[in-house]
Amino acid sequence: GTLAFDSIETPFEKRTELLGGSATHFAYAARLLGPVELVGVVGTDFPEETLKSMSRAGIGVRGVETAPGKTFRWSGRYEADWNTRHTLDTQLNVFEHFDPKVPSAQRGSRFVFLANAQPEVQMKALAQMRAPELVVCDTMNLWIDIKLGELEELLRKVHGLVVNEEEARMLSGRRNLFQAAKVLLAKGPRFVILKKGEHGAFLLGRDVRFALPSYPVEDVVDPTGAGDSFAGGFMGHLAAVGEVTPAALRRAMLCGTATASFCVEGFSTEGLERTDRKGLDARVAELASLVTP
Ligand code: AMP
Repeated sequence: GTLAFDSIETPFEKRTELLGGSATHFAYAARLLGPVELVGVVGTDFPEETLKSMSRAGIGVRGVETAPGKTFRWSGRYEADWNTRHTLDTQLNVFEHFDPKVPSAQRGSRFVFLANAQPEVQMKALAQMRAPELVVCDTMNLWIDIKLGELEELLRKVHGLVVNEEEARMLSGRRNLFQAAKVLLAKGPRFVILKKGEHGAFLLGRDVRFALPSYPVEDVVDPTGAGDSFAGGFMGHLAAVGEVTPAALRRAMLCGTATASFCVEGFSTEGLERTDRKGLDARVAELASLVTP
């Protein structure tokens, strides 16, 4: 996925040049549950120190290459309801011609997450994996708009898809989310996760259906990366238990939801960096008690 510099406008604050990117948020989330290795590209403007601090945080960065040019940049603005986000600008920069190289030590990984990126890049990375047990991908409105053919090809190669409501509607052509999920499942994946921002998430699969509200966060600072953090917690749990049964998928939904709640409590990776496994487990337990009668 992407390693990025983000500029964010929330209803309360404006921040520029924050560490962001789909892969970055995913990795800071997944590291709470187990080892994670990033594959991505940065420009020569990306501080060496940031890669070192990722490494200190337990994130493998051997698969992150530095290319001549500028790092991927994205800017977005949130409406007062937090659920509406406008992309103001996307500059692919070094990401435009990125040819991902998965380090040989990682090619045998059993759990693979293709974070938001051009579908061709996601497919090139996937093609290098030997025999992954679970492949889940994310995408975004930009790629649905300009790379639909490649995205549909990718969907035939993955087990799971994580999208938000707007993306699900765009990709399926259906307004009703359950009809949309049915259309998406017919395109290839065994399960689809529909993220509904502060209203939670649905897991809709061929042999499993599950729904969860989001963890009740009182002070939302910046929701950027919440979807990637959800995916990090979700995949982190499945990789840790080493199986993809319906029960494990349900539990993974709890882990993903709790992980995302830390992300929204700060800008960039601040919220995720402030917590640890104990903090995450406490929220998972609290969330479980919240939805158990
Ligand atoms: P999320 O809030 O989970 O949707 O993820 C937001 C993150 O994705 C930001 O940190 C951005 O840098 C990154 N991002 C935004 N647009 C794209 C894109 N088109 N492709 C890949 N990553 C992106």
